[in-house]
Amino acid sequence: VSILDVRFQDRAHRVIQRAFLGQRMPHAYIFAGPEGVGRELFARRLAQVITCSATINHSPGDGLSDWTGDVVDYCGACDSCRVSLADTHPDIHTVSRDLIKQHPNPEIRKRKGTVLGVDVVRHFLINQVGLKPAMGRAKVFIVREADTMSPGAQNALLKTLEEPPATTFLILIVRSADVMLPTTRSRCQVVRFGLLPADFIRDRLEAANDDISPDEARWCAAGASGQLGVAQRHYDDRLIEFQSRWDDLVANMGEAGVTASAKRLIEDAKALGERHQERDKDISDTEAQRRGLRTLFLIISMWYRDLLHHGVGAVSDATSDASGALAAALPPRRVTDSIQAVAAAERQLGLNTNVQLCVESLLVHLSRLMRI
Ligand SMILES: [Zn+2]
Repeated sequence: VSILDVRFQDRAHRVIQRAFLGQRMPHAYIFAGPEGVGRELFARRLAQVITCSATINHSPGDGLSDWTGDVVDYCGACDSCRVSLADTHPDIHTVSRDLIKQHPNPEIRKRKGTVLGVDVVRHFLINQVGLKPAMGRAKVFIVREADTMSPGAQNALLKTLEEPPATTFLILIVRSADVMLPTTRSRCQVVRFGLLPADFIRDRLEAANDDISPDEARWCAAGASGQLGVAQRHYDDRLIEFQSRWDDLVANMGEAGVTASAKRLIEDAKALGERHQERDKDISDTEAQRRGLRTLFLIISMWYRDLLHHGVGAVSDATSDASGALAAALPPRRVTDSIQAVAAAERQLGLNTNVQLCVESLLVHLSRLMRI
């Protein structure tokens, strides 16, 4: 195990290694990039290097492009490394909005943790910063979803970002640095993370999930737009089952009618939304359903993309015979129009429209395009 295990983030590695090389590690970082590409894993590994009591230097091998010198890494064997590898390091703190449920004040505990508020940031971060590290070297605070920090929380944190104790390091994980207050951003070094190659995602899925079939791994990777964490979620949620439900729906839409089909799709969205809620207890029912529908729209556009591939002779085993037959008969232009219709419906979804109407009009549009 090595910090270089975080793959395809060479730019981020170079920024960090340059800081080690110059022996001027900034005390506050913003790790910015899409979810599920390794920002948090990188933060944990960096925290491990920072707290390691016997860091090593080794050649990067082919693990890091455009880097000729050695790489500073954790040793993996010291007391500090042992506890951080077990995720129980007393000096590596993870701060997240769900900590509100552990706040000492019962009134605050009752609130929903939809944002990372000032109470959580004050209690679990600012007040801890001044305390001495338990194991001697340094303290690292990893702030998850820091882009949900309220302006009040960000303002409260400014002084800490400005003058952190010499042994304290902060890593703020965000999707985009641009959504942070300029005062926060200017006090941190921004490290950007990029998307991962689909082949890498497929391999990692297969390595992490014994029971995944090669087809499902490929399908989950294809729909994840470069985000391993998203691909894994698609697998955990058994999304591929919803693809066959959509197959069914297409086959029976004529008889069942648009209203009934829309209802079924919305029920599926609710079921998917509940899985989102299991992971994130603080999102509302409406938001959960919206996320569920977004996921279904993604599956539907993947289904159409598969039709296009069929059209040009590529074979995808995840596509059913029925859609294969349809693909043979449907002009590619109709397929691309359908993909655009799905994208338009997804945009509408963000505008607080009536969900039933939005889905119905999409289905009307799609069934018209499918008429041969
Ligand atoms: Zn160590």
